[in-house]
Order: sequence, then C-alpha cells, then structure tokens
Amino acid sequence: MSEPRLLLVIPCYNEEAILEMTYTALCTYYANLKAEGIIAKESKLCFVNDGSRDKTWEIIESLTLRDSQVIGVQLSRNFGHQSAIMAGLESQLDSFDCFITIDADLQDDVQAMTGMLEKYKQGARIVYGVRSDRGSDSWFKRSTAEGFYKLMQKMGVPVVFNHADFRLMDRRVLQELGNFREINLFLRGVVPLIGFKSEKVFYSRLERQAGETKYPLNKMLLFAWNGITSFSTFPMRLVLYFGFFNFLVAMAIVMYILFSYMIGYTVPGWTSTMLPITFFSGSNMIALGLIGEYIGKIYEEVKGRPRYIIDKIINE
Ligand code: UDP
Ligand code: MG
Repeated sequence: MSEPRLLLVIPCYNEEAILEMTYTALCTYYANLKAEGIIAKESKLCFVNDGSRDKTWEIIESLTLRDSQVIGVQLSRNFGHQSAIMAGLESQLDSFDCFITIDADLQDDVQAMTGMLEKYKQGARIVYGVRSDRGSDSWFKRSTAEGFYKLMQKMGVPVVFNHADFRLMDRRVLQELGNFREINLFLRGVVPLIGFKSEKVFYSRLERQAGETKYPLNKMLLFAWNGITSFSTFPMRLVLYFGFFNFLVAMAIVMYILFSYMIGYTVPGWTSTMLPITFFSGSNMIALGLIGEYIGKIYEEVKGRPRYIIDKIINE
C-alpha cells in the first residue's frame, strides 16, 4: 500500500488559549510522520471553527497563511462538537484516504496516532482511540462517564468503552457515515453501527493543556441524555413497566379500601383519595414528559435541517 493521504480534523470552539500550542504539537508530529514515510506529503490539518466568540478564527486564518498544509473551515455559527467534526470530514472527503478526528485541547495523545495508522495499514477501516486511564479527569467526570458508558451498553447501544471522538476512519467508512442522516448525530453510537474491520488503540488521557472545558456539567448531561434517547427507546419501555407497577399499587389500594369497608372500618378518607391522585398524576406527568422527549426528537429529524452550514474554507 502506498503512503496514505491523512487528514486530521480538529473541531475548535473558543480555543484561542491553546490553538497555537496545538498547531505546533500537531505540525511537529506531522513533519515526523512525513519524514518517515508513514503518511503522504499531501496530508493536511483541518481546523474547523465552530462559531467561536473569541479569536479562534483569526488564529486559524493566520495558520493557513503561514502553512499551506493547514485547511481552515469556518462554520456560520456554533453547531456543536459532533456537527463540527462532520463539517470538517465531509467537506474534504474526496481528497484524502484516511481521517483522524482529535480535540483541540491536546487531551488526546498525539503519539497514539502512530498506532492508529499502523492498524490502518494492517487493514482496519476504523481505529478507536480508547483511554486506558482517566487519571487526569476529576473523580466526578470519571464516574459519571463510566456510568454513562455502562448504561448505554446495557440499553443495547454498541458504544466502545472509554472512547470519545478520537478515532481514525477511512474514506469508505466516511461515505457510509454520510448516509446516517440524523441531526442529533451521536458519533460514538453511530460509527460502531457501520461495521467493517475495526481496532482499538489505547492511550492515557492528558490534562487539558490550556483554556477550559466546553462541556460543563449541564452540557455533559444533555449530551448523555441525547445519546441515550437518540439510540434507544428503552426509557419508554421503563415508563410502561412503571405504569404496570402503578396499576398493581392501585389494585392493592382498592383491595385495602374494600377490605376496610367490609370490616366496617371506613375513615372518611382524605388520605386514600389524595394519595392515589397525587401519585398517579405524578407518574402520568413523567410518562408524558418522556413521550414528549421522543416526539421532540422526531420533530427535529422530520424537519431535516442541515447539520451545519459552512461559511468558507481556506487552503482547500
Ligand atoms: N467543541 C466544538 N463545539 C462545541 C463544543 C466543543 O467544536 O460546541 C470542541 C472543542 O473545541 C474541543 C472538543 O470539541 O476541541 C472537545 O471539547 P472539550 O475539550 O471542551 O470537552 P471535554 O474534553 O471537556 O469533554
Ligand atoms: Mg477536552
């Protein structure tokens, strides 16, 4: 196999504090890969600006001027991490053989790409970067993330444990990925569904080198919730179980009331009225809310809006 043309896609949202450092690290590493003949000379870096409100785009622009191997993709506004990745990948689909997506904050070990490329050359079409230890993440992030992956797997979504969006895909996989048209794209759930030969590469996750996380708790929870409800109707089935359970409880209460009536012990029942009413209206609300969540999802998908809008591309 001749040397593959590699494209690195780096989604960036308000990353001015670290972008230069990221570029330097990737650029140095790229120079080595090219010198050793591991990747083709035409390989490039693609920075996608996901509607940042700081100087991120200005920095990307200056990088494209300085270095012809840097492609800059400007989105028209913030579309979110997953869409930014897709914008970078899809806009460059035809000019490269394989693609690696990596975060802008240098948390993913750049060196792990060597292993990915090796597996790719041995015939894998997808290579997942898997964090072998999450020592650098806070205890809270670690345990919630673990709970999330376990939950997803229990619900039958074939996510790769401790794998985020650091992965290699070849062009064929990417073409197939383009056929998954959902707007609420959850790449970690979708990519394993594509199939083909896949491999894993382990690395230890580093501290964010500068800037701060774009996934504070509320966004993290939303991301997890979207992942779950986009991939599984199991929560709806839970509602059904809950409904059955409620029904049984209601029957028990009725029996109890009948029984007390028969033995002549009837307290003019405030409690026995109010209790079921609050209980059942509460559970009805939960069920309705959950159904609403899915209908909302359907609504968004049915509209079929674009996942991202590209404003301009430099150095293509
Ligand atoms: N990101 C993005 N759009 C967003 C949020 C994040 O492109 O709306 C990028 C961000 O610049 C970074 C990557 O997604 O390159 C992962 O974000 P972050 O490091 O903040 O997440 P964490 O590692 O804390 O989960
Ligand atoms: Mg990060």
